[in-house]
Amino acid sequence: MGEIEGELITIPDVIGEVVGWRAWTVIAPHSPHPRLRSAVAATTVGLENAIWPTNRWMTAICPRRGHMPADVPTAGCSCGLYAAASLDHLLAI
Ligand SMILES: [Zn+2]
Repeated sequence: MGEIEGELITIPDVIGEVVGWRAWTVIAPHSPHPRLRSAVAATTVGLENAIWPTNRWMTAICPRRGHMPADVPTAGCSCGLYAAASLDHLLAI
């Protein structure tokens, strides 16, 4: 079980692909290289880590406790890469 801002949630362990929904803001939409930035993650992981990378995999980080990337997600910590389970769930959060 994980915790997000005081709310206990059940996070299932999954081996394999999952589909998740995230909300994005387009940065510099009129430039030759517009980018996608998480609509909510900039406040928790910092602006640089909230931008969807174009030349590497997006990986989960631990901005609060500094767990090593190979250890993320760590039990008892809120680190990880979050997404809503459905469009309805995304619109509700
Ligand atoms: Zn952590």
